[in-house]
Amino acid sequence: MSDVPSRRSVLRWAALGAAGLAGCRARGLDPAKGALPLASGTVVTPPAPAPTRMPTAFVGHGSPMTMVDPVAGAPWTRWGQAMPRPRAILVVSAHWEQHPFTLGATTTVPLLYDFFGFPDELYAVKYPAPGAPALADQVERLVRPVYKTDREPERALDHGAFAPLVWLYPKADVPVLQMSIPTSDPRLLYAAGRALAPLRDEGVLILGSGNVTHNLRRIAGEGAATPAWAADFDAWTADVLARGDVDAFLDWERKAPAPRMNHPTPDHWLPVYVAAGAADGAKATFPVTGWEAGSLSRRCVQFG
Ligand code: ZN
Repeated sequence: MSDVPSRRSVLRWAALGAAGLAGCRARGLDPAKGALPLASGTVVTPPAPAPTRMPTAFVGHGSPMTMVDPVAGAPWTRWGQAMPRPRAILVVSAHWEQHPFTLGATTTVPLLYDFFGFPDELYAVKYPAPGAPALADQVERLVRPVYKTDREPERALDHGAFAPLVWLYPKADVPVLQMSIPTSDPRLLYAAGRALAPLRDEGVLILGSGNVTHNLRRIAGEGAATPAWAADFDAWTADVLARGDVDAFLDWERKAPAPRMNHPTPDHWLPVYVAAGAADGAKATFPVTGWEAGSLSRRCVQFG
């Protein structure tokens, strides 16, 4: 499903042009980085520093316009800088529903511009992050005991993945792998997240991308008042995650206020379960909050 631009974002974009994208150049990985020349002329690469146990994350990606909006993107950049630097990113986006768990390209391929009717500049955004073939092998090994997996080597990053990454890691120098959402069963997604938790110790950022509230039929002009049904759902999410109430969180269709008003289809909600499962009980905090187009929550979650 496509997101739609807000009027203010369009105007802001028009004023700013493509500013902020200058840093979106791939440097690629330099295998000789940090290498030490020896007297004999041989070169030995020192062992990489021990990876930090990464938090997991969920980003509220909102309108595609954000990818060319430095004002909206700045909080994501600050968040990316505040987290430990990942060695690789596994992203689960609302915009790839495919059965079973399917792993996308493990090489750098052109982006999937899966949004329509936006200014041309959005279709010129590049994010040529390196692929992560070794991570794909690990993900398969970890997820297979939970559920079936598949590969789709030509499947590029969609805008649910690259729109936030443009701001979280603007240099596009962290390898990225995308994995599909195969089901609307929160328990299965949570279990898959738990299975993936060991990757955190290897420096992998497990990133869900969707929105805590997402009803495109109800979006309004920028600055519009947030309706109670959205505010209540957003507050419920913050509460159950902050308290670690996993039972209520998994039973969202019965426990959350107005679930179908906030998610006529659950695609933008579901990625949070993979991030939460991989968090393995880590405390939730909310590095970015706020509203877009009235009822779209910008709430982001960091676990750990
Ligand atoms: Zn979206």
